[in-house]
Amino acid sequence: MSALTPVLEGRDLTKYFWVKQGRGLLSRRAPVHAVENVSLRLDAGKVTAVVGESGAGKTTVARLLAGIIKPDQGEVLIDGKPAPKGRPRSYARQVQMVFQDPFASLNPVHRIRHHLVRPLEIHHIVTGDMDAAVAELLNRVALKPAENFTGKFPYELSGGQRQRVAIARALAVRPRVLLADEPVSMLDVSIRLGVLNLLADLRDREHLAILYVTHDIASARYLADTIVVMYAGQLVEAAPSVNLTDHPAHPYTQLLLSAAPDPDRIEPPKLAGRGAPPSLLALPTGCRFHPRCPFAMDICKRQVPPSIAVSPGHIAACWLHVDPANRQASENGLLATAAAQTAANHAAAAGGSLDRD
Ligand code: SF4
Repeated sequence: MSALTPVLEGRDLTKYFWVKQGRGLLSRRAPVHAVENVSLRLDAGKVTAVVGESGAGKTTVARLLAGIIKPDQGEVLIDGKPAPKGRPRSYARQVQMVFQDPFASLNPVHRIRHHLVRPLEIHHIVTGDMDAAVAELLNRVALKPAENFTGKFPYELSGGQRQRVAIARALAVRPRVLLADEPVSMLDVSIRLGVLNLLADLRDREHLAILYVTHDIASARYLADTIVVMYAGQLVEAAPSVNLTDHPAHPYTQLLLSAAPDPDRIEPPKLAGRGAPPSLLALPTGCRFHPRCPFAMDICKRQVPPSIAVSPGHIAACWLHVDPANRQASENGLLATAAAQTAANHAAAAGGSLDRD
């Protein structure tokens, strides 16, 4: 394994969920396009943020990487090798998840010590002094002194303290990857920064590879080394975080940034919010963002935009970054294909009518 091999990688991940529509004999199953062709990598000592609105597919990507659900297409690689089928204990130990809701992720009838002892026992991490191991875990997430917390129930802690316990529980098995699914979105604004700083500290001190799922692009810029922007199940832009937030190349990223609060901004946002994300059961053709995009062109409505490298390490899936001549060639190719298809349809229809005659 080379030093450049990511710890965890998703390649062309695609996941559909099937739902029933209609009733009785007229009912049918339709696919929810949760994630399509998403590739991303998590490196040791780096935070990768996945940003987007609700329904963008962020959590599905985290669950695919965790092995909780299986992709319909694409694969997950760990240290450059295919991840094992299912979620065996050896994989779960290396790849841990921290969930959004610290109020639901801790069992309310057990004390904090129990939550931390369980993974240590199940994975045979500690055979000696369990109390010392629990205290060390609590110290790693800055819950000190540990004896003030071990005997408490979750309801006796604040939201931020509960999320720290959830992170300590994930750290108990000495993972290499932490998948944090909106870890601060249910916390008071005043304590979010503390949890973000804790994640940054774990990245720097323990060299963890961290996935940070969020809808808040400002916090992604604060914490992450790389930002991946998703819209309606697809990756639309990815770049080093400062590069992406200083020079957003995709109109959707520009919309997200213009909607983010910025105390230094004097002028109103340049891009006003337009419309809402599409239904994942009935997606727009071409670029999925086109009904909301102020720069949409004809080709955007018909053809899926390619991923373009707009600068080193910075990609955006948008027709605006395709050379106009190439854009026209694509448009002509599409029109030629459509014309050929129409001619073929007419020929088939004419042949059909002759046959009937
Ligand atoms: Fe807008 Fe077209 Fe770019 Fe999509 S491809 S974001 S519709 S300009």
